[in-house]
Order: sequence, then structure tokens, then C-alpha cells
Amino acid sequence: MTFDSKIFVAGHCGMVGSAIVRRLEREGFSRIIVRSRRELDLRGRVAVREFFAEVRPDVVIDAAARVGGIMANSEKPVEFLLENLAIQNNVIEASADYGVQKLLFLGSSCIYPKLAPQPIREESLLSGPLEPTNEAYAIAKIAGIKLCQAYAREYGKPFISAMPTNLYGPKDNFDLHTSHVLPALIRKVHEAKKNGASEIVVWGSGSPRREFLHADDLADASLFLLQAHEPVDLVNIGCGEDLTIRELAETVCRVLEFSGQPVFDTSKPDGTPRKLLDIGRIRAMGWKPSIPLEVGIKKTYEWFIAFSEGF
Ligand code: GDP
Repeated sequence: MTFDSKIFVAGHCGMVGSAIVRRLEREGFSRIIVRSRRELDLRGRVAVREFFAEVRPDVVIDAAARVGGIMANSEKPVEFLLENLAIQNNVIEASADYGVQKLLFLGSSCIYPKLAPQPIREESLLSGPLEPTNEAYAIAKIAGIKLCQAYAREYGKPFISAMPTNLYGPKDNFDLHTSHVLPALIRKVHEAKKNGASEIVVWGSGSPRREFLHADDLADASLFLLQAHEPVDLVNIGCGEDLTIRELAETVCRVLEFSGQPVFDTSKPDGTPRKLLDIGRIRAMGWKPSIPLEVGIKKTYEWFIAFSEGF
């Protein structure tokens, strides 16, 4: 990848895609190509092929996906499967057919088995049953990894799959029903402060452990992988540390200067008990994250305050 490369960022309106575009711009890449959903529906094979035939990107970053938290995933398995399979099949196939030199396919740590040994190494893929609450998304993403690996093996394509841990940051989804836990907690604490409440309701038992990475750190890792010379097919991206949901809730309360308490609604699902990635592979290549959780939460809250009119 050079500063002259035509780089197509699929999903640039989302949290991950927009972080990657910001980073590419900051680094001085001048030929960044984006299309809104209205301009190009990535679920349509013909439209995607026409776009690739016309634009001929050199590099593709596939950050486009239907994503959502534990509730959204378990309530909409059909949409999570169909939309993600369609988007990634179209983008990966067109990248291969229209001469893309490098492709980065982004997934998530939920592709690994529910009870994978912790921290989870890339080798754990397909070694056991998945967590049922996000199985549809995971199956789609696993198919995407396998497609990239198949293109590498059969046609020598340098397609990389990167699996980030739970992400957060600006442009995250703050809808309490469909969001992931960190934006939900930020919003709940913000509203509790505004309403003078003394507690926030946290789903589940508080005991599951999760790892969190700021989207800007993922953008940094994405550029690093695209510029690396070593061949890599599947790579985890995380911060290497996890905490319980209770500790996370307490951290959000502290960073947002809320003196109330988290209380736990155990009628809501816990999901997988632990999901800490082994980041030895990307560390050995020379990458490490740089945004501590408390700093990242503070930055995300500042974004939320600035852009949350209407919340
Ligand atoms: P997951 O990592 O795929 O399970 O996705 P989530 O980010 O949605 O949930 C992570 C954990 O946070 C689960 O144990 C949830 O039960 C818990 N959690 C606690 N409060 C909330 C909340 O308000 N929203 C969400 N989405 N999860 C919550």
C-alpha cells in the first residue's frame, strides 16, 4: 500500500470505517474511496461488481457489516446471516476479480467457540460450539474468513482477516436495545446523572469478562497490517486485558463522575463467560494498542455529549 493507492473503505459511516478513514486522512493517503449505503448497496452483487469495474481500487478495507449487541443478535438471526454473507461475499469476490492487491476483512472475536481456552488464539477457530446469542453473526464472519483463506490458497490473493475484540468509540450505536455494553453504559450513566437517579441498571450478573479496544486503536492496527510485509491470514486485535461487566460499569461511573451504583438485572442474558483474545501474533509483528480504557471512555463520552442531540 502506498500513498497513491486507491483505498476503498466499505462501511465508512460506521464506527470502525469512520475511524479508519480518519486515520488514512491523517497519514496523508489521498485516494480514499467511500460510498454511502444509498450510493452503493453492498448487498447487491451486480452493483458491487459495477462499482469495482469502474473504480478499480488497489486496496479494500471491509468494515461494512450488520452489527449489534447481545439482544439485536439474538432477535434478528436471519438478517445478521443474510446481510453479512451478502456484503462480504460481494466485496471479497469483486476484490479478487477486479485486481485488488490487498484486502482486509474485519470480523469480531465472537467467531471463536464459547468455551475456547483463554486468552483465545487464532488456532481456536472452529474448535467447538459457538455462543448461541451471536451465532448468526459469527457463522457469517467465519464464512468470510474461510473465503479469504480460500482465495489465498487457490488464487494466491493476499487477503487478511482481522478479528478485533469488543470495540467502542465515536459513532458507536447508543440505542439501549441494540447497542453493545459500553455505549449502553455510557448512555445509562449520562441519563442517570441528568435525571438525578442513584443507580443504573446493568444487564446480566455482572460477572462475564470482556476486553475492550478503542476504534482508533483498531484503525491503527488495520493500517499496520496493510503495510506489513509478512504474510498473515487471520489475526486477532485486542488490548490483552479484560475486566468484569461489574468492573466496567464501575469504571464508567467513575470516569463520568457519577456517584450512583450499578444494579444487576439477571433476567437479561450474560452471553459468553469470557472473551479475551491472545494478541501474541500481532504483537510479534510489532503492533500494540495505545489508548487506555479510561482515556478511551472519556473521549467517547466527549463525542457522545457533542453529537448526542436527540438522544
Ligand atoms: P457480547 O460481548 O457479544 O456479549 O455483547 P454485548 O456488548 O451486548 O454484551 C456484553 C455483556 O455486557 C453481556 O454479558 C451483557 O449482558 C452485558 N451488559 C450489561 N449491561 C448491558 C447493556 O445495557 N447492554 C448490553 N448490550 N449489554 C449489557
